[in-house]
Amino acid sequence: MERIYLDYAATTPTHPEVLAAMLPYFTEAFGNPSSIHSHGQEAKQALEEARDKVAALIGAESEEIVFTGSGTEADNFAIKGVAYANESKGNHIITTTIEHHAVIESVKFLEKIGFRATYLPVDEYGLVDPDEVRKAITDKTILISVMQANNEVGSIAPIAGIGRIAREAGVYFHSDAVQTVGHIPVDVNDLGVDLLSMSAHKFYGPKGVGALYIRKGTKLVPFMHGGEQEGGWRASTHNIPGIVGLGKAAELAQQEMTEEAEHVTYLRDRLITGFLERIDHVRLNGHPTKRLPNNISVTVDFVEGESVLLNLDLEGISASTGSACSSESLEPSHVLLALGLSPEQAHCSLRFSLGKWTSEEDIDRVLEVMPKVVAKLRAMSPLLKTTDRR
Ligand code: PLP
Repeated sequence: MERIYLDYAATTPTHPEVLAAMLPYFTEAFGNPSSIHSHGQEAKQALEEARDKVAALIGAESEEIVFTGSGTEADNFAIKGVAYANESKGNHIITTTIEHHAVIESVKFLEKIGFRATYLPVDEYGLVDPDEVRKAITDKTILISVMQANNEVGSIAPIAGIGRIAREAGVYFHSDAVQTVGHIPVDVNDLGVDLLSMSAHKFYGPKGVGALYIRKGTKLVPFMHGGEQEGGWRASTHNIPGIVGLGKAAELAQQEMTEEAEHVTYLRDRLITGFLERIDHVRLNGHPTKRLPNNISVTVDFVEGESVLLNLDLEGISASTGSACSSESLEPSHVLLALGLSPEQAHCSLRFSLGKWTSEEDIDRVLEVMPKVVAKLRAMSPLLKTTDRR
């Protein structure tokens, strides 16, 4: 049985061209870019070419890109870095209730050491109101952090509007763009962000490498202390194969993103329509149109998401109950609760995320299997009254 992978939001397969670009940096081109000899300078050149490619993808200047070990690290760096460096100006941070744990836990940590935080609510679609951001700003606010697209429900936030508000108020603005970079156009100047996080493995690059965009002039403290790598922002010997992979993924995204978005949007809408037509008591989570082209999040009443997932897995289909990180916890998703779902509904939710190599046949297979799985589980479900059964 050929397996169907519909969990691209958790991680993507590495693009074969990315792997090919990385391989020489494990073998003959193994130098340390901090060395001044030829081996080192070969690696240094690859490092700077990768930086140029990442910068080009998001409309930044190359010097504004700092490579990190992950999207999580980029989020931690942005939030703690700004907080520590601007403590004398204020101690208030604004974020939302649906951020990734990398942001929420960083802010919670700062609260424990004396910072104050406002977690703005979102509407039923997972969108934050820019006016609420404006109202939450005080003279002590030093940072606003709002994700560009949510990893569970796919809703795309009004980042440019918030950017204008942040700029007017003179407050730094960070956006976690881990789910958008490489998938939809992202331009740091159009968005008005001072800091933006990305992660290679979400757009066909390798795992364990990311980047933080830091607008020139932004005041923050370095993330790791040690050598002078990354202009002193992030000490430690560079992961050159990973960084080369991120650069190649960025280059490919510029060439392939538009076509891929059209492809997955078509398949996404086919899957959503198919679910709504073939299964009773199904609802789409997140905004119907302001959503990532590859994200489908649904609540299927009267069945547990985990049970559906395991049954789909037996049929060769890999999907998710939400974020990759929360799949190890039995707590209902904080994102779905923030959208107003009950804990029971949140436990009945599933995410299908599509990618470059998803085919129409894959979607048709899911549409064939899913109604059967749901019917089987509902037949056993104590949650469903006989009259509700179909
Ligand atoms: N932010 C968002 C929105 C994500 O979806 C993820 C990964 O799931 C991260 C941050 C963390 O990125 P990484 O896996 O590179 O640590």
